[in-house]
Amino acid sequence: MARGAASHPNVYDTAEDGFFAAPLSQDDERAGSARCYLTAPVRARRNLEIMANTRALRVTFDGTRVAGVVIEQAGEEKTIAAREVVVSAGAIHSPALLLHSGIGPAEDLRKLGITIAADRPGVGRNYQNHAQLHLSMTLKPGSRLPAAAQHYIMTGLRFSSGLEGCAAGDLFHYFTGRVSNKPFGRRMAMVAAALYGPVSRGVVALRSSDPNASLNVEKRLLSDPLDAQRMIIAARHAESLLLDPTVRGCFEEIYLMPRQAPLRLINGSGLLGAAKAVGAAAVLASPGRLRRAVIGAAIKPGRLIADESAIYPMADDEILDACGAMFHPSSTCAIGAADNPMAVVDPKCRVYGIEGLRVADASVMPSIVSANTNIPTVMIAERVADFIRSPR
Ligand SMILES: Cc1cc2nc3c(=O)[nH]c(=O)nc-3n(C[C@H](O)[C@H](O)[C@H](O)COP(=O)(O)OP(=O)(O)OC[C@H]3O[C@@H](n4cnc5c(N)ncnc54)[C@H](O)[C@@H]3O)c2cc1C
Repeated sequence: MARGAASHPNVYDTAEDGFFAAPLSQDDERAGSARCYLTAPVRARRNLEIMANTRALRVTFDGTRVAGVVIEQAGEEKTIAAREVVVSAGAIHSPALLLHSGIGPAEDLRKLGITIAADRPGVGRNYQNHAQLHLSMTLKPGSRLPAAAQHYIMTGLRFSSGLEGCAAGDLFHYFTGRVSNKPFGRRMAMVAAALYGPVSRGVVALRSSDPNASLNVEKRLLSDPLDAQRMIIAARHAESLLLDPTVRGCFEEIYLMPRQAPLRLINGSGLLGAAKAVGAAAVLASPGRLRRAVIGAAIKPGRLIADESAIYPMADDEILDACGAMFHPSSTCAIGAADNPMAVVDPKCRVYGIEGLRVADASVMPSIVSANTNIPTVMIAERVADFIRSPR
């Protein structure tokens, strides 16, 4: 804020750059859609059947109209007849389900021996996700969260790369006051640097017509040079905030974390988890040289980038190597106009070329939203529910 960034009391009131308290879908615990929508009265509805341990394998058709869904339960295939089907398997599995059903790029499907129901080249294309990296800090005693503090993510900062052709608010930091919900977790904090307006696009494709075969998911994060450039800007911005003289006194060391953060080394449940927590607490309380050696070995190819006596600057390549995807896959069954060959669904989320079939999840976003994706996905589901209720 000393650098002139605004502070927004409510992030939903503005799209301007600035700090805000991170909105969390949380009451006493994480508030996911399954828990919040499938309440006891909803589960008791006579027109609802929830089939656990069931996998949808493909949609079936009568000509160009939906006829049903083939499912797998306990190793057995069954067909359920349906006049209307809504696919909500997420941005990886919804396109896979459509592809297994014969909706996708005709040439690719033919090669796999899948009968074509609708030639839609956009199915599985256009994958988008937010890229991010983490810097972690060992906190001095006076900078640690009080034990009663509940939340993991405390604060967000939306800011702009200012590069030509890039929308405002394309970069994002979130600040977390702990790395684990165990007591030692408050001994470390983290700053994430993320790209919230990517242009890179990846692919989700089938390797085989066998529904048990693994999918080919090519994220292609940062494949567009503009994205790589902006990710470096975001990482350098995080570094400069942490190295600011007014902040630097809060911690002993800063580490660049690797793409796959080794959280399994410190988190876990049961006896093993308790033993790991004791070990992590002992490492964090150990003298500086030992602490740096143990953490340095655990986070390779991440590394120490600053301690109380020196800064060990990050190279651009190191920054790019440390970037991974957030849990925000999207855009693989994109909404688009009827004359857009890469569009998979129309603005009411109906699959082009097939009657009675919709997709309702993060896969229909034409481009990934510049925000976390859970609430936008819930909004998509609410809109599709409205479309189904009022067809006109
Ligand atoms: C660990 C984690 C943390 C996250 N934290 C946040 C956060 O803090 N804030 C935020 O905004 N977003 C967060 N997200 C992202 C958010 O959860 C997603 O954007 C959102 O859930 C996407 O919804 P979806 O319906 O597209 O897909 P999903 O939520 O993945 O739902 C798809 C469902 O379909 C099921 N499925 C898949 N294939 C089949 C099949 N063949 N047959 C039957 N069922 C199938 C899956 O099991 C799954 O239940 C997080 C995601 C993860 C994984």
